[in-house]
Amino acid sequence: MKKISRREFLKNTGVAAGAAVGGGLLLSGCTSLGKGQASAFGAQTDPTKIPGKWDFEADVVIIGSGAVGLPAALRAVDAGASVIVVDTNYDVGGHAITSGGNCPLGGGTSYQIKYGIQDDPDTYFKDLTDWSVTEVSGLAEYRYNDRGVQRALADNSAPTFEYLLANGAAFADRAPDNSGAHATGISARREHHTLWTEGQSLESPAGAGGTSLIRPLEVTARNKGVQFLLNYHMDVIFRESLTGGRVLGIQAHYTPTILPGESAPLQSFRTNGNIDFAQEQVTVGARKAVIIATGGNTGNVEFRRIFDPRLTEEYALAADEYSPQDASGEIAAMTIGASLWGTANQTMDRNGSLRKRSIIGTRTNYIGWTPASPIFPKIKYTGLNVRNWQDAIIVNQAGNRFYSETEDGYPNGTAEGFYNQFGGYVHGDWRNPTKINYSPKNYIDAALAINEGSAAPDFASGPQWAIFDSEAALRERWTELIEQSETADPNLFFKADTLAELADKISACTYQYYRMPGSVLQATVDRYNAFVAGGRDEDFDKPTPRYRIEKPPFYAAWATFAVHDTYAGLRINMKCQVQDIKGQVIPGLYCGGESAGGCSQHGLARCLTQGYIAGYEAAVTG
Ligand SMILES: Cc1cc2nc3c(=O)[nH]c(=O)nc-3n(C[C@H](O)[C@H](O)[C@H](O)COP(=O)(O)OP(=O)(O)OC[C@H]3O[C@@H](n4cnc5c(N)ncnc54)[C@H](O)[C@@H]3O)c2cc1C
Repeated sequence: MKKISRREFLKNTGVAAGAAVGGGLLLSGCTSLGKGQASAFGAQTDPTKIPGKWDFEADVVIIGSGAVGLPAALRAVDAGASVIVVDTNYDVGGHAITSGGNCPLGGGTSYQIKYGIQDDPDTYFKDLTDWSVTEVSGLAEYRYNDRGVQRALADNSAPTFEYLLANGAAFADRAPDNSGAHATGISARREHHTLWTEGQSLESPAGAGGTSLIRPLEVTARNKGVQFLLNYHMDVIFRESLTGGRVLGIQAHYTPTILPGESAPLQSFRTNGNIDFAQEQVTVGARKAVIIATGGNTGNVEFRRIFDPRLTEEYALAADEYSPQDASGEIAAMTIGASLWGTANQTMDRNGSLRKRSIIGTRTNYIGWTPASPIFPKIKYTGLNVRNWQDAIIVNQAGNRFYSETEDGYPNGTAEGFYNQFGGYVHGDWRNPTKINYSPKNYIDAALAINEGSAAPDFASGPQWAIFDSEAALRERWTELIEQSETADPNLFFKADTLAELADKISACTYQYYRMPGSVLQATVDRYNAFVAGGRDEDFDKPTPRYRIEKPPFYAAWATFAVHDTYAGLRINMKCQVQDIKGQVIPGLYCGGESAGGCSQHGLARCLTQGYIAGYEAAVTG
């Protein structure tokens, strides 16, 4: 097959600036897949029609270059396999590079030993299968974990940490703690931290700690000969038959990121080892195995609603602006017989899976993207960081308050505060749940429960809006950012001289399922102002409401909570081999991280460890 450069491809296909080819993903502010947006997936070829000739071939083909993909690539190449990593994004890293880089790896890491923390794989295993540990909401986060998956994680966690260090990951040399993440287990401090202090750039799109984890691993992988096929979205996994036989390769379609005003696709920060190819479709044969490392399903509205039907389109996936987690790995694998697993973990909306953050006026409420980030032109605004929720109220799509704005979402699970609070913990003791301060109050369920103004068929709750006035903007020092936000996205930020006019503007938002009556918003603000005057929030007990909302212009900023982790996915065994509905291994297919089921632990640790396991097994077991 003739290879052409990307520039040539764009010229030949007549792709205009600002447009994408092949149903590419990345042009608007948010890439979550909603109704009618299946175009992010390419042609759904019959997965048993094996191509006569592959465009590329390797021993191990890894789909996704995030927390699973990079350690998997390193392990496979160390075991003597040739490796191609395919990623739909313009650069490596996935959500892992946007992450805080806090990794709850335990079981006796060299850092735990150095800083006198007692831990071993048995303790880690017992911790993460202890039914009796409940969050303060009462939900038991470890109860429904798959014991086999968990045992493999416990046994491989410390070796993964040492392997990451050996391959360049830059962890801060300090005592592990339990702050910065969730579900670290209670018996030992396990959170290892990376550091990144240099802000956002092409090297570090989100300017976050995950950069110090991902970039060094990437350098080592490229130096060891791992090849990267970027800008390709895997759509099909080929298998000999739908019910039997080996997995043989994949098909993907081209998804360059072309920023507004540009004609050439965005380039990855590093390019050595990149495969230069730019045709509409590509097929990649896997002589030994395919590893699914696609990051989960919470960016795919219809798929995530399998677990929680309330999560309709208005809810965005955190960091979706950088890379998708669109269930494509799960769907391709299920098409060839794979089973889902451990679904309770995702249905329980605990442990940070749904989050209220403090950045309003951005759709994912999470990262404050700055102009230094390479993807800023597509996001367009940094959002407004709320220092004090006394400066705003939150209303639902109908214009009514429903909660005390100073409250957070679910209280954290076993993060540091909870860890300290859980005095007298005894593993598996049925009395443990009585030792926590039970507090099931929750902003997010309050928001979802309202359904005011919703309609058939989905009865979606619609967005939530932060409402504030010009005085609040001054107190928060938002004036400059507001000017930027006003021109950024007509869906996320509104300004008006009256509350009635503001309600009209909000009603024009694509995600509103209801016309917000101006009279309702006015009445809500009037009532709140009366609470400020009286010194008591009679409706929702916000602690001493402080400021009236009265000085125009009035503002509305998107304050809808974000969807975060995926906690259920493909059924895997202890080697990370994908299994079918009968419990049989699908030969040549592996999965790890947020696309895999059986583990309720938040974030990086399980993903890195499963990458560590899957990469090796794919190379040696095939
Ligand atoms: C802002 C933020 C902060 C976080 N902070 C922390 C933290 O401090 N500690 C912690 O433990 N966890 C944290 N997390 C969670 C952690 O980053 C994720 O759990 C982890 O990165 C998931 O790893 P993964 O490999 O499964 O997916 P990802 O790291 O997201 O990688 C998936 C990759 O697959 C690619 N991909 C998807 N579909 C396809 C396809 N069809 N074809 C080709 N490529 C595809 C994506 O582009 C992406 O590169 C954070 C997450 C976010 C968003």
